[in-house]
Amino acid sequence: MTAMTGLPSVERVVSLFVRFPGVGRKSAQRMIHHLLRQGPEEMDQLIRSLEALRRNVRACRVCFNLAEAELCRICADPKREPDVICVLEEAADLMAIERAGLYRGLYHVLGGRLSPLDGMGPEELHLDALERRLREGQVREVVVATNPTVEGEATAHYVAQLAQPLVAKVTRLAYGLPMGGELEYLDESTLYQALAGRRDY
Ligand SMILES: [Zn+2]
Repeated sequence: MTAMTGLPSVERVVSLFVRFPGVGRKSAQRMIHHLLRQGPEEMDQLIRSLEALRRNVRACRVCFNLAEAELCRICADPKREPDVICVLEEAADLMAIERAGLYRGLYHVLGGRLSPLDGMGPEELHLDALERRLREGQVREVVVATNPTVEGEATAHYVAQLAQPLVAKVTRLAYGLPMGGELEYLDESTLYQALAGRRDY
């Protein structure tokens, strides 16, 4: 492993890999080592998959979930309940809720959370699009499922204020957890409980 350090081509990839969540220098080097050992074919496959990812994956026109067509597979599914919208920070949170398996409504991915210090104001989030969806008048309930962090709570408050005049019911997940958790990392049964026990905002 030490033989690799200092090689410019390796260092370049290391510097990109360490930007991934949870990846440090050591695991980045381990991954590169693995790739080099696998040989050129494996690496070509990875390169082609990344190119396809860049080419094909985009934001859903309606809810900003990841999609490979104009609509994501949830918005395109006629069996989903169209009168409930669950509002989340990121598409990764959506996948966590889907894994929990209870929720049958639609989603709206904000694309972040309010964080004035990081330059994330309401204009940076997909709030206008949410308001437009709610104004169409089909939605009965908005489930606010931002993360149980200080910024997530501030975002939840903002969304609730926006939604309350437009829908019959605004609810918030009942985490039953200390603040500071990230929805994406909650296990399925905790998320199931949080959804089942959601409370009026
Ligand atoms: Zn969608």
